[in-house]
Amino acid sequence: MGYVCIIGVLLVLMNTYPLLMNQNLIFRAKQTALTNQAALVTNTLVTADDLTPEAVAQAVDQLEDLEVQRLVVTDEAGLVLYDTGEATAVGRYLLQGEVVSALEGNDAFSSRYAGGVIYSRFATPVMDRNQVAGAVYLYEEDSGQGTLLVELQRNLRLISVVVCLAVLVLFWAFSAFLSRRVNTLLGGIRTVRAGEYTHRIALPGHDELSQLAEEFNQLTGRLQVTEEERRRFVSDASHELKTPLASIRLLTDSILQDENIDKATAREFVADIGEATDRLIRISQELLELNRLDEGRTVLQEAVDLNAQVGKAARLLLPLAESAEVTLETDLEPGCAILCNQEDTMQILRNLMENAIKYNTPQGRVWVTTRRVGDRVRLEVADTGVGIPPEDMPKIFQRFYRVDKARSRAAGGTGLGLSIARDAVRRHGGEIAVAPREGGGTLFTVTFRVGEGGEPA
Ligand code: ADP
Repeated sequence: MGYVCIIGVLLVLMNTYPLLMNQNLIFRAKQTALTNQAALVTNTLVTADDLTPEAVAQAVDQLEDLEVQRLVVTDEAGLVLYDTGEATAVGRYLLQGEVVSALEGNDAFSSRYAGGVIYSRFATPVMDRNQVAGAVYLYEEDSGQGTLLVELQRNLRLISVVVCLAVLVLFWAFSAFLSRRVNTLLGGIRTVRAGEYTHRIALPGHDELSQLAEEFNQLTGRLQVTEEERRRFVSDASHELKTPLASIRLLTDSILQDENIDKATAREFVADIGEATDRLIRISQELLELNRLDEGRTVLQEAVDLNAQVGKAARLLLPLAESAEVTLETDLEPGCAILCNQEDTMQILRNLMENAIKYNTPQGRVWVTTRRVGDRVRLEVADTGVGIPPEDMPKIFQRFYRVDKARSRAAGGTGLGLSIARDAVRRHGGEIAVAPREGGGTLFTVTFRVGEGGEPA
């Protein structure tokens, strides 16, 4: 609508402004021509002694042909002395506005354009010894110049119509093109909204709509990944929960159905139920932990003394290490403050160190090292354990992923520990990586940001 208004205003201007300009130019030329002719008449009249009808007629007859339709000469009172008009007004008073002005001593000109004809009037005083002795009035009708104006007007109208048509055609073509593209975009958005995350919008070109489609496709790609992850997570989680629940069901059925069950067997079954329940508790705790890390709430960050936390984790895991006959050694560089919080630091350390013990062999070893490297702090957890096959390395941070399911389950693992560790590390701007250890086993490396401001917590 805005463009239509602008084009409308331009067309109106185009149809009026050049016409008015030309009209004014013609009027000015008319004024000059009539002034010159009137001057010729007044100069001739000055030679006559008295302004009488005869003297005026005699004087005017001397003039070459005047290019006007009517020449009127009046005396100082406006009484017509001479008139070339068709219906002569000689002997009557001419009360034409221009004549009145002329009798007051002023030149007067007026011009009018109507119906393809230009009507011009001019009156000038006839002076005799500085007195107004009469007036000369000229009247002219010019249809030649008027026709020019009519033609100009017609041409301008024709051009306007052509411009209007061209604008309409362009406008229609452009809107059809635009609405086709917008419809493609809308169709794509609706398809994705209906859950079809594999759909991609094909909108070739380099305009804003193509960029929008490209951005939308990228967004859909991310949604697709998230959706796939969510589905896999739900299915994995259900599967993980199903196993201990099924064993609880089986064990309770066995106890209930066997009326003569001996006490020792019943105790054994109940102990198994307890173990399965522990497992359920651990899975739900870890799921809650993952949810906490996912929530994206503003995370508390403070300077944490990494070495102190390593010491605490080592003390906590000592019984597990002893029962697995694994030696736990630490090599800690002083002043390793990291930007994290105690809860997340403990999660990371516990998961990595517990894995290093769990997936180890009797008489195996675990080393925990901390080092300050530039503006970062590096934590290494190395072990002489079973190691991780190279093809599994990229997957071990995925939720519920386990290299050896039976071993993990036997060790009370849920397949969530490394996901939790990775999420916690990333939450604080750190990085975590895994690699085979030279000489066998696995090496996990975590890089933290150095804790700034104040004493380590
Ligand atoms: P889990 O609860 O099963 O330990 P994690 O997420 O902590 O789950 O680890 C995922 C899998 O990665 C484990 O099941 C195990 O197969 C493998 N893994 C993790 N740490 C080690 C390690 N230090 N040595 C060998 N394998 C490991």
